[in-house]
Amino acid sequence: MELCQRCNKREAKYIVGGRRLCETCARDEIVKRVRKEIHNSKMFSFKDKVVIIVPDNLNQLAEILSQIVGKACYTCKLQIDKVNIKTEINTDSNINDYIWKIIMYSKSLADYKVKILPFPSNFFLAYLLYSVSTKDYSYINYVTSYKLLSDGTRFFIPLYSISLLELNAFGEIKEISFNDEIFDAIFRWVNTQLAENYELFHTFIASTSLFNSARCKSCDAFIESGEYCARCKRTLTSPFPPY
Ligand SMILES: [Zn+2]
Ligand SMILES: [Zn+2]
Repeated sequence: MELCQRCNKREAKYIVGGRRLCETCARDEIVKRVRKEIHNSKMFSFKDKVVIIVPDNLNQLAEILSQIVGKACYTCKLQIDKVNIKTEINTDSNINDYIWKIIMYSKSLADYKVKILPFPSNFFLAYLLYSVSTKDYSYINYVTSYKLLSDGTRFFIPLYSISLLELNAFGEIKEISFNDEIFDAIFRWVNTQLAENYELFHTFIASTSLFNSARCKSCDAFIESGEYCARCKRTLTSPFPPY
């Protein structure tokens, strides 16, 4: 039996931050990382009402995330709700439509001080590769632990640098798909071929800061010019806006 590199008592079953750990220590390491992000973000106060956004394809991750956030800040006594969102728009929608929909829906939940998104680093690494191949970098600036939009919407994205493999100590993550063939292929490739490169799931984040341009006033997407991205523009001019 291989012993946990932290407690030296229990069997090592998971790898977190490159170390082989037992279930208890693996979970604790993740909770500690999220606690640090909560403090660094300075977004949370005692008894805040916060919401975990649950896109229909990320149910399991959102469930794990709610356990982690609850433990990470037990002294804050956050009131954590979960709100489901149906993300499938239509057959030709892509990953940017998916992200846009989640952002707009989150913005509409005015009762909650912080909106927590359950995207793991695998998602963002796949998104970076997807952006490079499609030359559409719209939401690359969401690769961050927290974000404040111009209308005051606060996003907290604590799993942005935590990989699915590291989250396995909370339960084996079932296969996830995003209804975008190209993105799904890249995401699967990241999860199979790159999964063991622990460093990559942290280091790629620095490369996203190389991208910069004007931003949409509503969803903060990178845009080439003007005030709003094409998706928000369409909504703003629609007689029946969905948000
Ligand atoms: Zn241990
Ligand atoms: Zn926009």
